[in-house]
Amino acid sequence: TRWTPAADRYDKMPYRRLGQSGLKLPAISLGLWHNFGDDKPLQSQKEILRRAFDLGVTHFDLANNYGPPNGSAEVNFGRILREDFAGLRQELVISSKAGWDMWPGPYGFGGSRKYLLDSLDQSLERMGLDRVDIFYHHRPDPETPLEETMGALDHIVRSGRAGYVGISSYSADLTARAQQIMRGLGTPLIIHQPSYSMLNRWVETPSSNSMGPAHGKNLVQTLTDHGMGSIVFTPLAQGMLTDKYLDGVPEDSRAAASKSLNPEWLSDQNIEHIRGLNEIAQARGQSLAQMAIAWTLREQDGGQVTSALVGASKVSQIEDSVAAVENLEFSAEELARIDELAVD
Ligand code: NDP
Repeated sequence: TRWTPAADRYDKMPYRRLGQSGLKLPAISLGLWHNFGDDKPLQSQKEILRRAFDLGVTHFDLANNYGPPNGSAEVNFGRILREDFAGLRQELVISSKAGWDMWPGPYGFGGSRKYLLDSLDQSLERMGLDRVDIFYHHRPDPETPLEETMGALDHIVRSGRAGYVGISSYSADLTARAQQIMRGLGTPLIIHQPSYSMLNRWVETPSSNSMGPAHGKNLVQTLTDHGMGSIVFTPLAQGMLTDKYLDGVPEDSRAAASKSLNPEWLSDQNIEHIRGLNEIAQARGQSLAQMAIAWTLREQDGGQVTSALVGASKVSQIEDSVAAVENLEFSAEELARIDELAVD
């Protein structure tokens, strides 16, 4: 029997405009970095994606290398699209990226026109799509001229392979330069995908980056100035900003299973801070995960993040996370108390 999505799926989720573009994203989006490779049963992947969509999550974020193995998340997602989401493609915003290591040899990583075009063609084939909605350069490449990388993104939109383009993990300065090039080409970047959470606040720090001269503005302000929106990755610090690690490392957790969350980050001091944040969340009537997500979406000096990009290993997690939208407001007092504990 075919799956039919919930009729009330658009009732609760706020949709927020990406900068000055025409595209809106759900306040909470789902990423397929973990939990959608060949190491996870297809059935659990389907259940998470279906439930997310039923809750108004219209945006699914992928990349060429998501798995394991590399590429398998796109293959699995493509299959679920055909089997479960047939007829719903127009209701979805699907993104992919290239930038990190993908295939052997000199053309399998970086920011060259060669790599970006070949990689996106592969991603489209794996997912069974003619076009993604958003294609990103996944990380800055100091060896490739920025003009070449941006020229490739412009070509990708003009050739119909992507509806929009964006960048990920670019510093504020490099973002400003990239957008200047893209405006000249007539294809402005609409989105930036940085990391951001209560334990990782680099986007708030003026010109904190390893590249180029400081211009005194932080990434959030730079994006506002340049008409760009943002979607922030690892808003839960890969699960650290939930109550799951308060009493040790559970066996079925990412810290136990994956190299990407080093259990050493769960230091006594971090756990102490997380415990304090958990108490603030409880006083707000939220789970810590919900507060951590809502906090990334708050208005801040000079701008606002458009969407929080979460991961989920279970249906119950996406349900918990999406319910963050029930309380997105913070008092000045709450923000001040969070600031004391939310340190990098
Ligand atoms: P999160 O910080 O949201 O961590 C997700 C993990 O936290 C889950 O897999 C689960 O871990 C745990 N979790 C999630 N929700 C809950 C909950 N409500 N209660 C308790 N635990 C919960 O983000 P990810 O690290 O998964 O990254 C999200 C997405 O961001 C990626 O899928 C990808 O799309 C994008 N990303 C982009 C990068 C880039 O370079 N542009 C880099 C990294 C990510 P557990 O397994 O322990 O259950």
